[in-house]
Amino acid sequence: MKITIVGTGYVGLVTGTCFAESGNQVTCVDVDEEKVNKLRNGIITIYEPGLEKLFQRNLRDKRLHFTTSLADGIDDSEVVFLALPTPPGANGEADLSYVLQVAEQLGKLLKKYTVVVAKSTVPVGTCAKVKETIARQTSVEFDVVSNPEFLREGVAVEDFMKPDRVVIGTDSERARKIMYELYAPFVRQGNPILFMDIPSAELTKYAANAFLAMKISFMNEIAILCEKLGANVDMVRRGIGSDTRIGKRFLFPGIGYGGSCFPKDVQALVQSARGVGYDFKILQAVMEVNERQKTYLIPSILKYFNGDIRGKRFALWGLAFKPNTDDIREAPSLYMIRELLAHGATIRAFDPEAIQNVRKQLGDQIEYANDQYHCLENADGLIIATEWNEFRLPDFERMRALLRQKVIFDGRNLFELEKMQDEGFHYISIGRKPVL
Ligand code: NAD
Repeated sequence: MKITIVGTGYVGLVTGTCFAESGNQVTCVDVDEEKVNKLRNGIITIYEPGLEKLFQRNLRDKRLHFTTSLADGIDDSEVVFLALPTPPGANGEADLSYVLQVAEQLGKLLKKYTVVVAKSTVPVGTCAKVKETIARQTSVEFDVVSNPEFLREGVAVEDFMKPDRVVIGTDSERARKIMYELYAPFVRQGNPILFMDIPSAELTKYAANAFLAMKISFMNEIAILCEKLGANVDMVRRGIGSDTRIGKRFLFPGIGYGGSCFPKDVQALVQSARGVGYDFKILQAVMEVNERQKTYLIPSILKYFNGDIRGKRFALWGLAFKPNTDDIREAPSLYMIRELLAHGATIRAFDPEAIQNVRKQLGDQIEYANDQYHCLENADGLIIATEWNEFRLPDFERMRALLRQKVIFDGRNLFELEKMQDEGFHYISIGRKPVL
């Protein structure tokens, strides 16, 4: 099939590359000229495990193309995916301007029957708006389909190649057949392609993200209670996770969720609900808890230094909002950095992939380390904000030699309490007794 992806960011590039990998001819369109030039020249623009190899192969085999021109991009295309940003608007609602602007342009460019697919996360009613917008400009036949994306950054290729499920909202038999054909190679193991009406598909994505965010905020509150009641959240987590109704995954407490999706999608769902006169109480609480959680370690840090961290120097491990990505959008680390700087501390940070992105945003407000140990030199304490695997089994002896004070504030509970006791660190984590 000939496919166009409009918007070549995390979702667009992964979607385009994976569809090319299953034999389709894919053209990715983006307004960012620098990005398109790099991609055309074989330079990948995001870090995502496993993507580079597929990207290079499909570029070489000429199944994957890049352009800044929407007109060239959709020429002869059967399916056009919109993988455009839907950032929060002024009140937290999803800003649909990118999606609708491209819909407007598409209306003028369609030459033959085309399936236009909303892959961006968009509120109920958006596909109908896209349809109206295109229809105003053209008499050519087309269908608009909702196909929300569930991939997770960090395992995006795996998620796209072997999705738990594919959700497709459509009211057209013709579009349904095309979408089925396109996705069939990805569900050969038997995972379902769930066809449904368009509003249900649109809402499914928000419901999924809001539920997952709720799980995180719930565990963060349980963790706080553990600290206050003298329980250990690791035990409680295992205790409840072994109940299959609850499940083991996504029960890890920490310094909150971040990224480009959960924060904005929870907010947008609350706003959608408000728009129809409904007060979504649980999600309000989910957001409040997360806000507090991002800087949850700050009071413990202040307490350790008797309320004054002016001139103290901290090592920070982890900047990305989660491991295996270079994405720093809404990363809890950035909230921690802001607070620490406001209290007069200095920071040297290390992240395996995200330093470049943070440098663009923060410049020389903080220092950047070459590796996780360089980060520790002469620091008054270590703060951990992202659970990269390489932080899990560090050389504690080397750490002790490098750190000025043997104290670790761990926002991701990387280490066992006993181990920290044995290694002689003062160790503060989330939902567990401090090791003093
Ligand atoms: P992104 O910001 O990484 O990428 C968006 C791309 O669109 C950018 O490269 C931008 O230059 C391009 N763009 C903007 N205007 C354009 C235009 N008029 N024409 C062509 N290109 C244009 O965003 P993303 O993370 O890929 O997210 C895209 C959508 O997918 C959002 O709705 C998001 O909520 C959703 N989503 C994201 C993830 C994720 O993990 N990132 C997962 C599932 C769903």
